[in-house]
Amino acid sequence: MSREAMEFDVVIVGAGPAGLSASIRLKQLAAAAGRELGVAVIEKGSEVGAHILSGAVIETRALAEFLPDWRARGAPLVTEAKEDRFLLLTAKRAFRLPTPPQMHNKGNYIVSLGNVCRWLAKEAEKLGVEIYPGFAATEVLYDESGRVAGVATGDMGIGRDGAKTDHYQQGVELRAKQTLFAEGCRGSLTKTLFERFHLRDGVEPQTFGIGIKELWEVDPAKHHPGLVVHSVGWPLDRRTYGGSFLYHLENNQVAAGFVVGLDYRNPYLNPFEEFQRFKTHPAIRPGFEGGRRIAYGARALNEGGFQAIPKLTFPGGALIGCTAGFLNVPKIKGTHGAMKSATLAAETVFETLGEGEGRGEPLRYAERLEQSWLWHELRGVRNIRPAFRWGLWAGIAYAALDTYLLRGRAPWTLGYHPDNLSLKRASASREIEYPKPDGKVSFDRLSSVFISNTNHEENQPPHLRLKDPEVAIAVNLALYDAPEQRYCPAGVYEIVRDAGGEPRLVINAQNCVHCKTCDIKDPTQNIVWVPPEGGGGPNYPNM
Ligand SMILES: Cc1cc2nc3c(=O)[nH]c(=O)nc-3n(C[C@H](O)[C@H](O)[C@H](O)COP(=O)(O)OP(=O)(O)OC[C@H]3O[C@@H](n4cnc5c(N)ncnc54)[C@H](O)[C@@H]3O)c2cc1C
Ligand code: SF4
Repeated sequence: MSREAMEFDVVIVGAGPAGLSASIRLKQLAAAAGRELGVAVIEKGSEVGAHILSGAVIETRALAEFLPDWRARGAPLVTEAKEDRFLLLTAKRAFRLPTPPQMHNKGNYIVSLGNVCRWLAKEAEKLGVEIYPGFAATEVLYDESGRVAGVATGDMGIGRDGAKTDHYQQGVELRAKQTLFAEGCRGSLTKTLFERFHLRDGVEPQTFGIGIKELWEVDPAKHHPGLVVHSVGWPLDRRTYGGSFLYHLENNQVAAGFVVGLDYRNPYLNPFEEFQRFKTHPAIRPGFEGGRRIAYGARALNEGGFQAIPKLTFPGGALIGCTAGFLNVPKIKGTHGAMKSATLAAETVFETLGEGEGRGEPLRYAERLEQSWLWHELRGVRNIRPAFRWGLWAGIAYAALDTYLLRGRAPWTLGYHPDNLSLKRASASREIEYPKPDGKVSFDRLSSVFISNTNHEENQPPHLRLKDPEVAIAVNLALYDAPEQRYCPAGVYEIVRDAGGEPRLVINAQNCVHCKTCDIKDPTQNIVWVPPEGGGGPNYPNM
């Protein structure tokens, strides 16, 4: 049976800052040129913002370029960053260090990025953009000449056994002259495009971090709106890249989070537990005491920067935002890069639509990007993250040298190794014993996932697929003591043993918060994350 199809000029996959900014810019250009333009955005979350998780302190530069009157339009950017603190933690003490220049936040805003996206979606709809939340794009469509020609949404109502259920609804084709992929970090369709169009040839492998976040309502006496705190050091060992953030926003809320570089080596490391332990530090714990945790979630972020940016275009479309990788790691900010890349792509796509059939490759996007402030910004900091592979002290020393003396103009560019290759064998690693949660400032994973409001239709094919089920035991368990049990922030993976002691990997896919860490960190890339039925996953209120 042929699928229902809808036709647009541009289809955008993902309603994050990149996808929504591109949609707005396209409609602005069409209005200025007096042209009709059909633009659709599809989003796998149940509503716009449901799957958005970020810090977030954001820079407004890119936003102001395409919506200069964002304030008058009621953008939810209300808490200006006022004070930065940068701490080095040891097990018992906290030392205040000078804040690195990239981490100065004066003029930036502390926001819920989910709420910023909800507002951007309203602005987009006012301009006539059609937004379809609750639909996951599961397939890229190609025309007879091999150009990208849109995407298809997944069928709904397919049971775990692959048979149609009573709720069966066939997926829909969203056909377009140009398709923009704005899936965020580790986009699943983007991965297929990397392969088909060899977009990663000649660039460094992407490297990632996992960010785990909680939203707290704290005692008003301990709340300092506009305060931005970052820490490095304890509880991580000196070889592991990462650190914490504490952002005081409005309404007595503090966004607390912890990022661990996914190039970590010890298979016993558990990023969730590192975060829980961080909150028990004597200098940190008092800030949470008397408060209430109101939300939890996790998401991977790109750390590869400039040298890991792939080729961005192919016939019929382009990659924008974090699915390509425009995050500035020393700043821990990707929103402005997502918005800037999106608007530059939109401008190019708009031109391309006016040429011939409008289905060509929007090649000038890369040129525009290379001439932009974003390119200059990312190029200047490209060596800072890779220098941390030599450890915390060498990383800090190199970062200072690069920033103050070389000023980002070093004649070399440091590279990366893929994160899935960094784990040492369990037999050569130290087991890590984590303290039990106290239920006051530290918690367990299951009660955490509960407040991410994660929900999936249970009767559906698994969206966490093992290329070879045997590998889970023969390689992951045998060599690395099944690290997926620990790196998954939602406790999805469990090794259980039958009466005879035979181990088996159980995948509790319904708990998945769509962070994509397993797709990145699995040592043999045996775990493949594919989008589940649209609308499934976390329902973050304001992350
Ligand atoms: C813990 C953490 C802290 C951060 N802190 C900051 C910060 O303080 N400041 C800052 O500027 N940046 C920060 N970032 C980075 C910032 O969040 C990202 O750079 C930004 O969200 C990227 O925007 P995007 O639109 O490219 O992708 P995303 O925001 O990830 O949005 C992608 C959207 O696409 C949807 N989607 C994906 N695949 C599909 C599909 N196949 N079909 C349909 N929909 C799909 C997703 O559900 C999502 O809504 C942080 C990130 C993390 C994880
Ligand atoms: S199953 Fe994978 S994508 Fe889902 S929460 Fe766990 S690590 Fe993240």
